[in-house]
Amino acid sequence: MPSIPFLEITKYTIGVGDRFAHQGVAQLRAVQQAREAGLDVHPVWNKSNREHTIIHSKPDDLRAEADTAVAALDWKEPYYVDADHIGLKTVDGFIAASDFYTLDVADFTGKTPGTSAAAEFVHDMERYDGLISIPGTTVRLDANATTARAAADKFLLAVQEAGSIYRHVCKQKGAENFVTEVSMDETDTPQTPAELFFILAMIAREGIPIQTIAPKFTGRFNKGVNYVGDLAQFEKEFDEDLCVIAFSIREFNLPGALKLSVHSGSDKFSLYPIINRLLKKHDAGLHVKTAGTTWLEEVIGLAEAGGEGLEIAKAVYAGAHGRFDELTAPYATVIDIAKERLPAPRDVVGWTSEQFVRALRHVCSDPAYNPNFRQLIHVGFKIAAEMGQRYLGALKASEAIIGRNVTENLLERHIKPIFGPAV
Ligand SMILES: [Zn+2]
Repeated sequence: MPSIPFLEITKYTIGVGDRFAHQGVAQLRAVQQAREAGLDVHPVWNKSNREHTIIHSKPDDLRAEADTAVAALDWKEPYYVDADHIGLKTVDGFIAASDFYTLDVADFTGKTPGTSAAAEFVHDMERYDGLISIPGTTVRLDANATTARAAADKFLLAVQEAGSIYRHVCKQKGAENFVTEVSMDETDTPQTPAELFFILAMIAREGIPIQTIAPKFTGRFNKGVNYVGDLAQFEKEFDEDLCVIAFSIREFNLPGALKLSVHSGSDKFSLYPIINRLLKKHDAGLHVKTAGTTWLEEVIGLAEAGGEGLEIAKAVYAGAHGRFDELTAPYATVIDIAKERLPAPRDVVGWTSEQFVRALRHVCSDPAYNPNFRQLIHVGFKIAAEMGQRYLGALKASEAIIGRNVTENLLERHIKPIFGPAV
């Protein structure tokens, strides 16, 4: 790939952000405390077009949240604002506010590319006729005309679409002013390490200076709850993906900072020790998106505050329960709620702060913790949005208690286990 200017991403980044743009300071405080503890991590505020649409917020609101937090805490380190999961149709609203673009081309995977483009790609890949042994590793990739052709049929059109979005942003922003991520996580099937290799080959040929890539990993990455899947399989795949990335940087002259991006990365507690170990083994960077977890901490903080805060938390649950189908539909591929395990809203009305907080807070060892309850509240932010001033007023009134929950959750349950000393 020819060398193209780009804004460089730092090695370890944590994707934060929140539905109502009120927790920027509490989030940045977590990153600041992590740095004080010796962890070289930087924040990326992100919010997807989907969430802006549901809440009726604007990309500029997220930029304002980030800039305000940075000024308030006198943050001098790099930080980024991510236009998360955008496409050609939605990117224009994010040009002024963002300096990080997550090009979502999942909808273009599995669609047949033009025959000449596919033939050219396969021809180019003929130099890998057979097995690729990644030097210094035991990883072998099945790379031949047949697998290259299959990868082209699955991903070439999607990568071409990513190229169109990338060039569209370049024209308006200047190539040197932003970070590019390509995401294919919201597809039906996970991508194998060999497919990741071919995708990176296509991205290099398309001239995209990609710095983070979000494949779909094996297993379920449900919103706000723990990983569901085969840990050994995940470990093998993640390990091989890291090898493929390091190899592809050299092979295709991709940006040296290129790293994996884990979406719906919040609360995947069983994966963190694996990820932590593998990052150290490969001396690799990582981006993890965790925005959803902060909204849940807001509700926990409100419930903990009691009074009006607890009433609001209960109203969010009752509202979400009553509009189950509507609220869960946009998240169908990333939630798994056992309806019969949801508490009845008429019972929840009588709950104390402690009962509500324990059901919601992600402490797997607590028998009162209910992942079904947690996932339903996760998609219930539309109910809070509809409360308007009542909700925002409560956030202000309980700012300290909510902020403490937000900071502690990010620092202790996320940043330290992922990036900190291995435990
Ligand atoms: Zn995603």
